[in-house]
Amino acid sequence: MVPYRQLLEVFFNEHDPTQENRQGNDVGTQYRSGIYWTTDAQEHEARMAVDAYAKALADAGKGPIMTELASAGAFYFAEEYHQQYLHKVPNGYCGLKGTGVTCSLPPTGYEAEVPAGSAAPGASEGDAAAADPKLKPLPSTDDEWRARLDPAQYEVLRRAGTERAFTGAYTDTEDPGLYRCMACGNPLYRSEAKFHSGSGWPSFTEAVSPDAVEVVEDRSHGMVRTEVRCGRCHSHLGHVFPDGPADRGGLRYCMNSLALDLDPEGADA
Ligand SMILES: [Zn+2]
Repeated sequence: MVPYRQLLEVFFNEHDPTQENRQGNDVGTQYRSGIYWTTDAQEHEARMAVDAYAKALADAGKGPIMTELASAGAFYFAEEYHQQYLHKVPNGYCGLKGTGVTCSLPPTGYEAEVPAGSAAPGASEGDAAAADPKLKPLPSTDDEWRARLDPAQYEVLRRAGTERAFTGAYTDTEDPGLYRCMACGNPLYRSEAKFHSGSGWPSFTEAVSPDAVEVVEDRSHGMVRTEVRCGRCHSHLGHVFPDGPADRGGLRYCMNSLALDLDPEGADA
C-alpha cells in the first residue's frame, strides 16, 4: 500500500498549498486543497508534514500553507463527468505545478498501522489479493495472457474484439451473483445491476464501484464510442452507452459475455 506519508509528500510536491481558494486557473472555495485523516496516527503525520513543509516554504521565501486540515467526514464520489476525467477530456489539464519547493518527510514509524489483509483505500495488489482470493495475479507478458485465456476470450479481452450478438453465455442470464473480469477476477457488476436490453449482449446499469471499470474514448470503426475496460487489469470488456434505463441512471454497460465470469458466491457480497 502507499504509506500516508508518501501521499503527503506527493500532495505537497504537486500543487501550490500557499494559494487558499485557487489552483491554476480555477478559483473558488471548492479549489482549496485539503488533508483529511481517519486515525490519530494520520492526524499526527499530517500535522508533522505541514510543519515540516511550512518551514521549507518559509526558507524559500514562500507564504504560509493555506490547506484545510480536518478529520475525514462522509466520502462522496464526484459527479460522473468528473470520474476518469482525463480519459473523457484528453486535453483537460491536471498536472498542476507545485511551488518548486520539495517536500521530503522523514519516516515516522506509523506506516505499519494497517492490519494485515485489510483492504484500505490505496491498498496494494498484495493486500487486495489477501482480501479477495478470487483475484488472479496480473500477467506481465502477452504469452501469459494467451496461456490464461482461450482464443475467443483473448480476442475480446486483449484485442478489444466483440462477440457476435446473442451468442454470449450471459446475454439472458438472471442468476444471482457477482460478475468478475474473466481475465483477472476483478469484481465488475452485481447481478442486480443487470437488465434485458434486447441488444444481444449482457447489459448493466452500473459497475460495483466507480473504479471497478475505466472508460476510454474509442474512435475505431468510424464511430465515437466509450470503451469500458477492467479497472484492475485494463482488459477490454465492452462499451457504455447513454441509452440505459432512465430511472436507473440512464447508462447501458454493454459487455461481452466472454469478458465476464459469474461468481455465484458473490450474490450477497
Ligand atoms: Zn481484469
